[in-house]
Amino acid sequence: MEIVLYPHPALRRVARPVAEVTDSVRKVAAEMIRLMDEHNGLGLAANQVALPIRLFVLSAQVDPWGEGKPRVFINPEILQRSGQEVREEGCLSLPGLYAELSRPARVVVRALNEAGEPFELEVGELPARVIQHEWDHLRGILFIDRLMPAVLRSLLPGLRELERLHRQRQRSGELPPDPEIERMLQEAELAYAGA
Ligand code: ZN
Repeated sequence: MEIVLYPHPALRRVARPVAEVTDSVRKVAAEMIRLMDEHNGLGLAANQVALPIRLFVLSAQVDPWGEGKPRVFINPEILQRSGQEVREEGCLSLPGLYAELSRPARVVVRALNEAGEPFELEVGELPARVIQHEWDHLRGILFIDRLMPAVLRSLLPGLRELERLHRQRQRSGELPPDPEIERMLQEAELAYAGA
């Protein structure tokens, strides 16, 4: 498992619901937590490891329960949003790119934990920001999609460079060509989300 970078097609995929919280789903979540921590991320969505399924993890640094534990959100839904707040965002799939972005300040989120048990909670501050960022990933949305045109323009050189590197990796065989990536994404969907 590794983190895929923009413009990998997995990042534009609308993730499918997890059919059942099995040991293999728990294994995926544990591996994602390890990868997230290794890269000092605050959150990581399954799309970012080329698994288009509705699952994300939150770092212990933003544990909404304040117990300093990493958390797993399976089949999450944001039920309510309130307020508005500007914060700087970055993304492990867009290394080196950061921008200030306005989003709702608080959200009510519902999901299943790694035991398959449902929970619902209201979150504010940084955890609310990370949850919204990760939830976007599951719908194929990146934070750059939400920027004002002038802010996005300032990131364009960095985005062009990531696009160039992606094509270069495909040419060198380090990354498979698009049809092969598509086949791998479909396989992942079948494995975890069912037909
Ligand atoms: Zn991200």
